[in-house]
Amino acid sequence: MHKQAILLHTSKLFFTDKRRWVRHVINPCGPVTGMQVRLATRVTSEHYVTGKLWLHATLPICPWHPKGGCGWARHGTYPRTAPLGTRIARWYCPKAGRTVSALPDCLASHRTGTLSQCEACVRALELAPSLESACDHLRTDIELPGAIRYLSRLIRAVHGALRAIKGLYPTAFTCSPTLTDFAALLATPQVLVELRDRIAPHLPFLPTPLGFNPPSITRQSSRPAFQHTMGRDPPMALVDAPD
Ligand SMILES: [Zn+2]
Repeated sequence: MHKQAILLHTSKLFFTDKRRWVRHVINPCGPVTGMQVRLATRVTSEHYVTGKLWLHATLPICPWHPKGGCGWARHGTYPRTAPLGTRIARWYCPKAGRTVSALPDCLASHRTGTLSQCEACVRALELAPSLESACDHLRTDIELPGAIRYLSRLIRAVHGALRAIKGLYPTAFTCSPTLTDFAALLATPQVLVELRDRIAPHLPFLPTPLGFNPPSITRQSSRPAFQHTMGRDPPMALVDAPD
């Protein structure tokens, strides 16, 4: 078990070890009925939609009851507004009273659109002389104050995730916590998608849109306690079909 201390910039939550995130994420501090897990696939959002890969997503074991007997089963799908035609596979545990949805690596968590779109915005912001000037090009669909709020939150969340990753792997990520520098270090144009794979065990407690920890996950929960071996990796869905 890792014993790293990670300060999550956006949610102001302090995790001292993996046991803490299991307690927090699997048994969230709030009226959250759904849990998000990774659907491990490197396909683009276009391929995901045209191939309807949500139909081929598999998550055979309940996160709360790995020995079975809880009635774990597929629970249909739900739509996302963008990209057009996107659906997300979902499962349900009647014993825990919670659903689990599988987010493909190409899509942003708790934000509309793809991780690539988020990355393009943040990279443009990193190079722009000011936030206001970047808004003129990045979010022309909404008014300036709304665009500033949206982009401020986005860059804060992404840079917060990169700082947390640097804390987890200080010798691997010696660069500054920007997408520009991470791209140079990893030699990839798709940093966020690449990180979904590289730091997969930590996604549940990293800030959205890269990780699955939304800023609002701070309230008290009345949900049943998580009863599984601590320290294991979080559940991950796979695509049971050729890419
Ligand atoms: Zn279950």
